Order: sequence, then C-alpha cells, then structure tokens
Amino acid sequence: MPTQCSVMPITRTVPIDTNVIRLFIRFFDLKSDKSRPRTDKILASKIRDLYSFNFDFKTANLAVLDFAGIICTTVNPKCKECPLNIQCNYYIEESLL
Ligand code: SF4
Repeated sequence: MPTQCSVMPITRTVPIDTNVIRLFIRFFDLKSDKSRPRTDKILASKIRDLYSFNFDFKTANLAVLDFAGIICTTVNPKCKECPLNIQCNYYIEESLL
C-alpha cells in the first residue's frame, strides 16, 4: 500500500491546503477577504511568493504540511512549544493581549 509520501507529487511550491493557509495567515499576518480563504487566489499567490528558496522541496513540503497539521492546529495551536513562535505574528499578538 503506498504511503502518503510515495503518492504526494513533488512540487516546487507549497501545496495549498487549509492547514497551510492557516499557518501562513497566522505566521505572516496575511488577510483574506473571502469567507473561505481556500478559494482566495490572491492569498494563494502571496503564500507561494513567500515560499521561495533553493533546497529540497519534497522534504520542505512534507515538513510544512506536518507542521501545519500537528503544531499550528485549528484549535489550541501549540504556540508555546512552537520553534517559530518568536517570529510569528499570531503568537506575538496573542502574547500582547
Ligand atoms: S507560534 Fe502558534 S500560530 Fe505561530 S506558527 Fe507556531 S503554532 Fe502556529
């Protein structure tokens, strides 16, 4: 039986799903004027622009998907344990409340 890794296409940009959108919106303080940000092509374009580097996209894509689904969860994100928290707009704003 194939694993998720073996069937996931290698793309040179981040796969945009709801978890990834949530992570990028929180981290970079992005906004969407769509009620369903997943349908927002301008937002998707901004995310792809931010996801620009020159190394192993397969590993990076899997890491982003896992990170968004495990650490930066919809409810009760694990911000205190998150290795990105000191750079994250969401965490900084929540810490100031
Ligand atoms: S600090 Fe919190 S909101 Fe920011 S990326 Fe980490 S888990 Fe997500």
